[in-house]
This record gives sequence, structure tokens and C-alpha cells, in this order.
Amino acid sequence: MRKRLILLIIVSCCIMLWIFQPNICTRLLPVKAGELSASKPDEAIRLPRHLPRGIILMIGDGMGFEHIKATSLSLKKDKLEMEKMPVSGSLTTCSYGGTVTDSAAAATALATGVKTRNGYLGISSKGILLENVSEVASRTGRRVGLITTVTLTHATPAAFAVHLHARKDEASIATAMILKRLDLIWGGGYGFFIPESLSGSFRKDNTDVIKLAKNNGYQLIRNRSEMAQITSLPSLGLFNRGALNGNKKEPDLAEMTVKAAGLLAKDNRGFFLMVEGGKIDWAAHAHDLPGVIKETASFDKAVSEAVRFAEARGDVMVLVVADHETGGLELLDKNGAISTVWTTFGHTDRDVPLYGYGPGAEMFAGKHDNTYIGRMLIQYFTTVEKYTKILLSA
Ligand SMILES: [Zn+2]
Repeated sequence: MRKRLILLIIVSCCIMLWIFQPNICTRLLPVKAGELSASKPDEAIRLPRHLPRGIILMIGDGMGFEHIKATSLSLKKDKLEMEKMPVSGSLTTCSYGGTVTDSAAAATALATGVKTRNGYLGISSKGILLENVSEVASRTGRRVGLITTVTLTHATPAAFAVHLHARKDEASIATAMILKRLDLIWGGGYGFFIPESLSGSFRKDNTDVIKLAKNNGYQLIRNRSEMAQITSLPSLGLFNRGALNGNKKEPDLAEMTVKAAGLLAKDNRGFFLMVEGGKIDWAAHAHDLPGVIKETASFDKAVSEAVRFAEARGDVMVLVVADHETGGLELLDKNGAISTVWTTFGHTDRDVPLYGYGPGAEMFAGKHDNTYIGRMLIQYFTTVEKYTKILLSA
């Protein structure tokens, strides 16, 4: 009995010593928010090879498998650039309660890892505020950028920034988005940022969100040549009063992607960039097949540029997903002649494509729910924060 007691004391002492030895202890302690921001921006941080330093999440709004197939057939390409990426999979997309999703609930799932009601942005079905991947990336010292071809206040970019019940309240989204102090926000929607008293405003109040942005340190750019000259952040790019329409003064999605990734990656602590091809959905709602092909091809060009950027660096992961399928598009092969059929003017509950490239992308292979993306990205930024802390203290 006495022997057992002595043995128990020795074992307990060993466990206590192991737990409280200084090195292990630091490793077990949670890293406090903001601690990492204290590190020098240009500090070279070695990361384990399987973890990327930067993540580019690209979302084709409304882009189903058939939209991709129709585009590759039309361009007489065997595969689109996104289909050539080494990792592939699919996502289920229903919103809270198994409903066919809208872009707000889908983007909330992608950004926060939680299913919510249609129309909600960054808020759970019960109204609880959900931390999104931009916030986690920013809190852990990363640079964050959002870019889109539609208005910045539209559901997809909005879910990566704000927490609101009403996706249609684009004026409130504009104000809330600027207060998030993201490093780079580029797209359309100038009309939601200027007061009602100015011509071209979409607002019903006299809030001057541009002034608010400037007070928060943002430099405003309005066209492609101003974008080309930008060398520092934070940057607010508003290239059209509404959605981008492809005029020559506007940068295209590929140009924005490369420039944004370059600016964000200057900071060695890493970055998160969300890129939305927002008008695939709009064309599909209108059953406009040439429009779907044009927008999908433009999105694919941006994907190709993002992969080239990641290839050159070796430490960037590119993930390509869609938020939902729009139009219920079907391609029918009648003796070699392909015809298309649209089965709805709305969204469907079909699974959507996923492609990946770069370190860490293999974790996304196969079939997942859309919440997996948000959960994994948030976990990634939290894990890297811990890794970086260990490496810096080593
Ligand atoms: Zn839609």
C-alpha cells in the first residue's frame, strides 16, 4: 500500500514537471489576440511546408458544374483553368433548415462556418454574431482584402465583413464595411458610399462614407490607372456607381486579383483575399447563356492569374468554390449537338464545384458541406497564429 502511494507521488511529480516546464507551458498557453500584430511586418517567419502564408478564396456566384462545362465547350477548351487545379471536390449548399440558399446565407457559411437563414449576413439563425474569416485573419495579424465585380455591398463580399440581418440594406453595409478597417476593398457600388445630396447616390441619408473611409486612412481609387499606381494600403476601390460593367476605365477581375494579391503579400505575416465573380449569377437568373459564358471565362482568367501568382511564390493556397447553382442549367447532347435547358429562374440545391491549388489545398478535396470552408479557414488562421508564436519564441 505504502509502495503504491510513493509510486503515485513520483508519477504525479513527473506529470507536474512535464506540464510546467517553461517551454511546454508556453506551447499550451492560448495566444492572445493582437499579440502577433506586435511582430515586425517584414519579419521572416518560417512556416511548416504544409501551411500556406496567404489564402485566396475565389467564389463564382451561381456557378454550377454545367456553367463551367458550357463555358469550356463554347471556348473549345478541354478544361477551364480552374478544372486543371490539382485538388477537386464539391460542396453542398443548403441554408439553415435545408432551404435552397441565397448568396447571403451561402457566403455566411463560407465565411463563418455556420448555416444561417437566407438574407442574414454574419449572423446565426438565432441572431448571434458570428466571427468571420476576415476578422480572424485580421485579428491574428494578417492582411485582408475583398474584391468583386458587383457592388462591394452585395451579399457575398458583405458576409466577409459585416453582421446584419438585411442583405438588401446596402447603405448600412457600406458604412459598416468601412468601419471594419479591412486592408483592401475593391469593386463597384460608389453610389452606396456617397451622400444622398450628391448625384448618383443610392443612399437615403446624408452619410458620407467616402469621408468616413478617408478618416479611417483609406486611399480612394476610381479607375484602372489609379489602381495600377497604388503601392500602399488601406485602399478603397470603387470603379463604378453600381456593378462593374466591363468598360475600359475599369480593371477586370484578373487585374484586380493580381494587383491585390501583390499588395497584400508584401506583408510577410500573411494574408486572406476573397475574390468574387458576382455576375455569373446575374446572367444565369436572366437565362443569358452568352452572359454566363463571358462571366465564367472572366472568372476563370482571374483564377488562372491567382494560380500563377501562387506558383511563383510557393506559399499561397488558391481555393475556388461557388456559393450555389443558379438557373438549374442542363446541357443536353443530341447526336453531338449540345443544347441547354434552364429549369428555374432562381437558385437550386445542387452541389457546386470546388478546386484547389497550393499548400494546404489537399484538405479540401472531396465532398463537403459549404460550412467546412469557413470552419477550416478559421481554424487555419488560428493554428498558424499558434505556429508563428512558437516559431518566433523558439
Ligand atoms: Zn442569385
